[in-house]
Amino acid sequence: MPHTIIEPFRIKSIEPIRRTTRAEREAHLRAAEWNLFQVPADAVLIDLLTDSGTGAMSVQQWAGMMVGDESYAGSRSWPVFRDAVRDIFGYGHVIPTHQGRAAERILFSVMCKAGDIVPNNTHFDTTRANVEFVGARAVDLPCVEAADPAVSHPFKGNMDVAALDRLLSENRGRVPLVMLTVTNNSGGGQPVSLANATAVSETCHRHGVPLYFDACRFAENAWFIKQREPGYADHAPIDIARAMMALGDGCTMSAKKDGMANIGGFLCTNDDVLARQEENLLILTEGYPTYGGLAGRDLEAIAVGLHEALDEDYLAYRAASVAYLGDHISRAGVPIIQPPGGHAIYIDAKAFLPHVPPSALPGVALANALYLAGGIRSVEIGTLMFADAARMELVRLAVPRRVYTQSHIDYVVETILEVFAEREAIGGLRIVEAAPFLRHFTARLAPLETAR
Ligand SMILES: *Cc1c(COP(=O)(O)O)cnc(C)c1O
Repeated sequence: MPHTIIEPFRIKSIEPIRRTTRAEREAHLRAAEWNLFQVPADAVLIDLLTDSGTGAMSVQQWAGMMVGDESYAGSRSWPVFRDAVRDIFGYGHVIPTHQGRAAERILFSVMCKAGDIVPNNTHFDTTRANVEFVGARAVDLPCVEAADPAVSHPFKGNMDVAALDRLLSENRGRVPLVMLTVTNNSGGGQPVSLANATAVSETCHRHGVPLYFDACRFAENAWFIKQREPGYADHAPIDIARAMMALGDGCTMSAKKDGMANIGGFLCTNDDVLARQEENLLILTEGYPTYGGLAGRDLEAIAVGLHEALDEDYLAYRAASVAYLGDHISRAGVPIIQPPGGHAIYIDAKAFLPHVPPSALPGVALANALYLAGGIRSVEIGTLMFADAARMELVRLAVPRRVYTQSHIDYVVETILEVFAEREAIGGLRIVEAAPFLRHFTARLAPLETAR
């Protein structure tokens, strides 16, 4: 039996992508004021901006779209969705939202007040923003191994349990919940081990504080546990996911990730009182509790997608295709967060462009250079995104699920290596104007006058 890991699907419907000239890309970047979020998608050849909502759905999901029941109340699609979520996540209350951040907003609005503290292994940008929006403080407690991008460790997404214990002891009554993000997106798409999640759960519960998972990539995290954590090689990904979720009191989820859908999310809790308050808010801003912020067809697509994300052939291909990109560029000397993450490769822009200081946005400079060189869109995760809270200057190349083939990735590798060879010519940027929250989406930028 050959050992090549292949895409475990064939292509039934295609979407053309268009090449542009370098002059066209320069014009697009100038019009976008050097912010790739403002570049039209048609002017992008390979879009690695995000793996969120950009995946391809399966024939079973499209079939689900057709049978979706669009009734306002009591839709037939609602129990299909609720039961699929319960089957994997196991929590008593399931609250459908239009995407992950809506679940976050409802959760933090109900649980947090000004002056509170919310610890997380690493807050994702929308999670941090929603914590801060209610006046609470978002504190990142990554494990020590996460600090050095070049050092490989099987579970770099882990939380620093001793730091959590200390924080909970010193801030009694001020921590309404602890979040654990699996996989740790902003920390490099790195997984959290079951041992670490267990220790975090025990610490939380010893202090009487509930634990919520930011479960966006629960399936990819389960796959890494199966591959790397002693004792789990023979466990099915779904059983690993269930074991992890059983350690928590609830979760937030973006179905645009391991829900394999183009839109959607949910909030889960085991707390009856909180659930009632959350449903009241849901009705105010999202919709009736049997559909939340979603169409009936979305509920069906997500119900199918959650289980497809746990398929072993799919997960093996997914991990292999992301690692393929990371291994090929790192072998040629490009500094990346090691080991490759579950959904993305993170280039260490500080090491790639040592002549560009953090204040001159090296991650943005590199992302823009990749766009100019090959029409590839990526995203900075660094000073533009997190301002003073940035721990690293990264460029994330997120791989959409079931969308690109190996030749697309070969093209990406070739482009990155071309840019790497000419990295000394890349100059920094300055911020012309930025919003107070999530400023990277809309910031207007300009090249520094001193660009070499
Ligand atoms: C995407 C994401 C979110 C937010 O979900 P949206 O669907 O984009 O609103 C929250 N946490 C993590 C870790 C994510 O990756």
